[in-house]
Amino acid sequence: MSKKKIIIVTLFAAILLMGMVALQLNWIKSAMLIKEKDFNNEVQNVFNTVMTKVNHHEQKCMQQRMVKLMREQNTGNQNVGRVFGMNSGVIHIETDIVNSIFDDKKTSYISIDTIIKNELKKRNIKLDYSFNVFDKYNNISLVDSVPQNADHTNTYVFPFLSNDIMHQLVLVVSFPNEKAFIFKQISLMILLSLLLIIGMVYIFSYSISTIIKQEKVSEMKNDFINNMTHEFKTPISTISLACQALTDKDIPKTRDIYDTYIGIINEENHRLGNMAEKILQSAVVDKPGLTLKVDEVDLHKIINESVKNIEIQAKQKHGGIRTNLNATHATILADAVHVGNVIYNLLDNAIKYSKREPDIVISTVSHDKCIEIIVADNGIGISKANQKKIFEKLFRVSTGNIHEVKGFGLGLSYVKAIVDRHRGSITLDSQVGKGTTFYVKLPFDMNTNQCYY
Ligand code: ADP
Repeated sequence: MSKKKIIIVTLFAAILLMGMVALQLNWIKSAMLIKEKDFNNEVQNVFNTVMTKVNHHEQKCMQQRMVKLMREQNTGNQNVGRVFGMNSGVIHIETDIVNSIFDDKKTSYISIDTIIKNELKKRNIKLDYSFNVFDKYNNISLVDSVPQNADHTNTYVFPFLSNDIMHQLVLVVSFPNEKAFIFKQISLMILLSLLLIIGMVYIFSYSISTIIKQEKVSEMKNDFINNMTHEFKTPISTISLACQALTDKDIPKTRDIYDTYIGIINEENHRLGNMAEKILQSAVVDKPGLTLKVDEVDLHKIINESVKNIEIQAKQKHGGIRTNLNATHATILADAVHVGNVIYNLLDNAIKYSKREPDIVISTVSHDKCIEIIVADNGIGISKANQKKIFEKLFRVSTGNIHEVKGFGLGLSYVKAIVDRHRGSITLDSQVGKGTTFYVKLPFDMNTNQCYY
């Protein structure tokens, strides 16, 4: 997939994802509104029943009051002048008498409270509430400490008496935890929705990052194949030309010419062998069951051999390799061939990635249970960003389209894999333009110890 395609797919997927998230959020909001409406209807139904019962209760009180007033009139009490009238069964109540529903405030409160409690229970609304009966005209309420008007949020107001057209008496009810109660009812759905959203975002980002990684890997693989083909082609054609010259009857076969061509063939053959070795090394560590041939090895001896083999390359660039093998104890349990390759690769890189005369120092230091190998060079250095990636397979520091230094990006991934297999560790210090130092720690006994930085 091309980069442009990945960007377009990511963009579309992101838009779709955002749309789905927005839909889910909208759906949660709608569900909340529906639940709120349901709750309001339920409360309305509950209080219709409550009001019928309370009305009934109030009418009984009213009858008792009338009887009381009639008695007082009969006994000549003139203070109760404004009484009431009855017209076709409807009671017309004078203001101050209506307010006297609170004949006994405490009893009225308890009986209304019991009615409300029972009705809420019947409808399975287990919610705290407070209520008050409020006489708007005379500014009197049944209880002092609870809300008296409808300003309060989550407050419901019901006309108290069916024949009270002016709504002079109102029952004010409030549910302080109404929002939490409604929220609790849809909390499971909200949780599931959130999980769904998180899951979708995770899958989306995982898929995109996998596509990007795959894309990078395939790009690196292509680079590797191109690079390898190119690298192999040069020595093969040089060898082929040298062979042609040797078999050409027209070219006189003096000893010197013969030696020159054989030398070229030998050198190019060596180059081919080295390249094949690098690819093989990488293939070996990729095998799941790579077994090390662990033996007691003298690390100083291995280092000296590697230095001897590679020194010529440093000298060709007018540089050199110095050794500082100060470790007091250099015998470790390790696979001699692989550890030798590790040191060779580090020295090879130190020479390759140097634009001036390479000045390389390889030293050893003993620690408690480990030996440390330090390879320091004065080469081109590696930037901080690239330092994190150089141990990745096929990674090469980008130098534009043309790589001045030949390589496959396999060396350091092999080095790291082998060091890890020996239960050791590798780190580096580098400054662009100044040089790089690699630190490798290996345990003396990899069966009992490990060495991490
Ligand atoms: P390569 O075959 O490209 O050398 P390596 O895995 O050995 O592959 O190294 C990966 C990259 O790390 C190299 O392409 C190079 O850019 C960088 N690198 C490795 N060693 C050094 C060094 N000593 N100095 C500077 N850059 C280095």
